[in-house]
Amino acid sequence: MREPAACDIVIRNATVVDGTGASRRRGDVAISGDRIADVGDLSRLSGAREIDAGGQVLAPGFIDTHTHDDRFVLSDPDMAPKVSQGVTTVVTGNCGISLAPLRPKGALPPPLDLLGDETGYRFDSFARYLDALEAHPAAVNVVALVGHTTLRVGAMGALDREARDSEIKTMRDAIGEALVAGAAGMSTGLFYDPANAASTDEVIALAEVLAPADAIYATHMRDEAERIVEALDETLHIGRAAGVRVLVSHHKIQGEKNFGRTKETLARIDAARAGQGVAVDVYPYAAASTVLNPVSVSRSSSTVITWSKARPDAAGRTLADIAAEMGSDEAQAMERLQPAGAIYFAMDEDDVQRVLRHPGTMIGSDGLPHDEWPHPRLWGTFARVLGHYCRDLGLFSLEEAVHRMTGLAASEFALEKRGRIEAGFHGDLVLFDAETVRDEATFESPKRAARGIEIVIVNGVPVWERGRSTGERPGRVLRRRAGSNAAERPRRGGGS
Ligand SMILES: [Zn+2]
Repeated sequence: MREPAACDIVIRNATVVDGTGASRRRGDVAISGDRIADVGDLSRLSGAREIDAGGQVLAPGFIDTHTHDDRFVLSDPDMAPKVSQGVTTVVTGNCGISLAPLRPKGALPPPLDLLGDETGYRFDSFARYLDALEAHPAAVNVVALVGHTTLRVGAMGALDREARDSEIKTMRDAIGEALVAGAAGMSTGLFYDPANAASTDEVIALAEVLAPADAIYATHMRDEAERIVEALDETLHIGRAAGVRVLVSHHKIQGEKNFGRTKETLARIDAARAGQGVAVDVYPYAAASTVLNPVSVSRSSSTVITWSKARPDAAGRTLADIAAEMGSDEAQAMERLQPAGAIYFAMDEDDVQRVLRHPGTMIGSDGLPHDEWPHPRLWGTFARVLGHYCRDLGLFSLEEAVHRMTGLAASEFALEKRGRIEAGFHGDLVLFDAETVRDEATFESPKRAARGIEIVIVNGVPVWERGRSTGERPGRVLRRRAGSNAAERPRRGGGS
């Protein structure tokens, strides 16, 4: 009798949901080194480590398509808020905010301070940032975008105007450098003051640099309220004019009088998809979070402070409460708290669910890991989709939920051999209990790990097990190779 062949890890008796959208099937998965070696009935194989899944669901590790983890992956490489939900890859550099390339000379304008203070901004090239990350890996893989606002702060003296030709040249060169280093694309945050004066033409001139590499253009649009349709049309126009795929970040509608308008925006996105690449991501909550600003406060039924440099004790309390205590109105209180961040209860649950249900929507947490009192999306997003929205409300099948978080995201970001359970793919996996998985983080208690996530594996190495980090940091920088595989991006699987 032959000795059974040996692998590093064999996970037996799992319900395999493979990330393509295909129906679940019972089976075993073997891992050798950093790769999935085989899938199916693997009784002929033995593992140095054997894991009995007991019928629990084994899925590809989740890809968090929208994060502000640029600095967090360096400062907190165990990445507990993310791995505890089954996330194995994060996309950084969103909303125009990337840690590189920038060495600020003066004070850091909001929203760049969402990544912490100026001490984190110490990379004068994108390559140096990615090299630092490679030298000090995190528990998760990193896909990095370069941020338009970061580039503006580096290239321009004043930010309240359109960039001049010489400044556009400087920014185009920096985007080119970032792409050569391995950036996956560029993001903008046209909503925010330091980028709001940028014209559509400025963005097109920069996005053009992405086209030859088929890199993605992700945007926190200029408006997510009254002028949402104009902002969406601008985004689609930028995509067509520059010849790039666009990603509408954290798609939402804010302000009570705009509730329901995702019907309009999603129809427009569907129509545009006939002629251009349009991706969408969303976080599964009806409250937003960013820096403290009067526009967002005005659209909210309630505002909760997440951090304040001037008044650290304000974190976790409502703006109304703090204003009352100060004996001032909310506008004055806001001034006194700055610089600061907040959670805004400004959305309609029906809009959130409509975007979530929409075919092709990916999941991005938009978590803010440096906030004192973070929005629960930081710790809860992926478990909330699986538990609350998939299992409890039945918005989509489990196969579809997993596909949006894995195979679909890997295809939009052109990640090679990620996002599926298949022989030869990287060993990024999450084992969870589909009956009990749920988010535990709440607005009242935001830093709680999800329930039901049993084991999380990155590049073949367990990073989360028995409710805690293992201390291993096998994450990699997933550098995009220019023009690598646009044509062979996998088609969407046959999910329901
Ligand atoms: Zn944003």
